[in-house]
Amino acid sequence: MINPSDIAARREALLAEITTLASDIGRSPQSIKLVAVSKRQPEERLAEALAAGQRVFGENRVQEAQAHWADRRESYPDLELRLIGPLQSNKAAEAVALFDVIETLDREKLAGALRKEMDRQGRAPGLYVQVNTGEEVQKAGIAPAELADFLARMRGHYGFSVSGLMCIPPVEEPAGLHFALLAKLAAQNNIAELSMGMSADYPVAIGLGATSIRVGTGFFGSRPD
Ligand SMILES: *Cc1c(COP(=O)(O)O)cnc(C)c1O
Repeated sequence: MINPSDIAARREALLAEITTLASDIGRSPQSIKLVAVSKRQPEERLAEALAAGQRVFGENRVQEAQAHWADRRESYPDLELRLIGPLQSNKAAEAVALFDVIETLDREKLAGALRKEMDRQGRAPGLYVQVNTGEEVQKAGIAPAELADFLARMRGHYGFSVSGLMCIPPVEEPAGLHFALLAKLAAQNNIAELSMGMSADYPVAIGLGATSIRVGTGFFGSRPD
């Protein structure tokens, strides 16, 4: 049994599992990135993760991400930070300055703010479009039927090279249906990267083509409230 506080051991177990799952279906384990979701995790766990060699982290709020990572950039130049939560246009400057990948591009207004900041700062984070695969009213993301037009706008008018799609399936539905839909949409639209799968369902996501999985509690242990 792995001690729940032993992040290094959890990480090793996750990486080993990714390798097995990938190999079983003829995928290269290197084609699947483990994103450790560090939102609401205490400082000492972040330090433990870094000490264990983890460098790719996901955060869902700009301010918390700054508090967690801004000062660590210098000591860890190979850090890769991903924004996986909704982004307000008025936080575009901070997001462009901090993140290496923004996974939640989901509307024109945000695209305009990001374009402006990317030009101003001379920085170009990778961009993923969030797709609302379950068409839930409360959830962010572009509806599947609107994706092709939205991508055309992003690539044309805004000059973005969108490199990935991201989804968060409805909790009450089998995640695999949504992962399969996201993979199909990516193939149809010439997009290589798929951010899908969390602690509860990353094995399914890997089976359906995920190139990054976002694991929070399965990596760090449960989030203290
Ligand atoms: C919190 C969060 C995760 C991680 O969830 P776990 O169940 O802790 O693995 C993944 N993706 C997004 C968008 C999140 O907000």
